[in-house]
Amino acid sequence: MPCDMAHKYEWCSKNRSLIKASDGNRYCIFHAPHGEKQGISVEEFNKLVFEHIKESLEQEKDINLTGTIFEGDFSFTGLQSSTPLCHIDFSGATFRGAVDFASMEFGSKVSFKRAIFCGVSDFSNTVFNSTAHFDYATFNDEANFTGAHFEEQAHFFDANFLQKADFSTAVFSKEVYFTLGAFKSGALFTNVKYGARAVFKRPYPGIGAKT
Ligand SMILES: [Zn+2]
Repeated sequence: MPCDMAHKYEWCSKNRSLIKASDGNRYCIFHAPHGEKQGISVEEFNKLVFEHIKESLEQEKDINLTGTIFEGDFSFTGLQSSTPLCHIDFSGATFRGAVDFASMEFGSKVSFKRAIFCGVSDFSNTVFNSTAHFDYATFNDEANFTGAHFEEQAHFFDANFLQKADFSTAVFSKEVYFTLGAFKSGALFTNVKYGARAVFKRPYPGIGAKT
């Protein structure tokens, strides 16, 4: 039997080293619930993440970390190559601590769809050379996108920012999509540069309309 999440996030299906969690299911180390990763330290867990990234890069495969439950703080500055050219997918990931993607340059598409950021997320001066997907992401703590460069479309539809979001001096070269009411504790857009439209979608398209 593979990891209980392998039906959804296929990439871990070959991982036969499984952990029996308190919910009765068996998970790979990446999808095991927080605090149930066999006492592994945050450093050791992040090391495994980087090993997976390195392997993917060596095999010229996309980096698939969908659904990963990060044990604590995570910094991408540990990545040797500063410009991964492949698609990086963190869809559905849960970042239990702070994340540091500051000044990273993503060469290809990157996805944080439905990701949950429990701690402060630092995307300051991060360069997204291709499409950036943050749809349905939840930022439980401060989100710092100051000076970030979005060279292609930036998708934040139905993303929720529960604490301060700072996009000051960010550059959106193409369209950027947000949802009205997404910023629960205010947002800063000081000196932002827009190359195309900034679209604010209503959260519920049917409101006020007769169907
Ligand atoms: Zn798994």
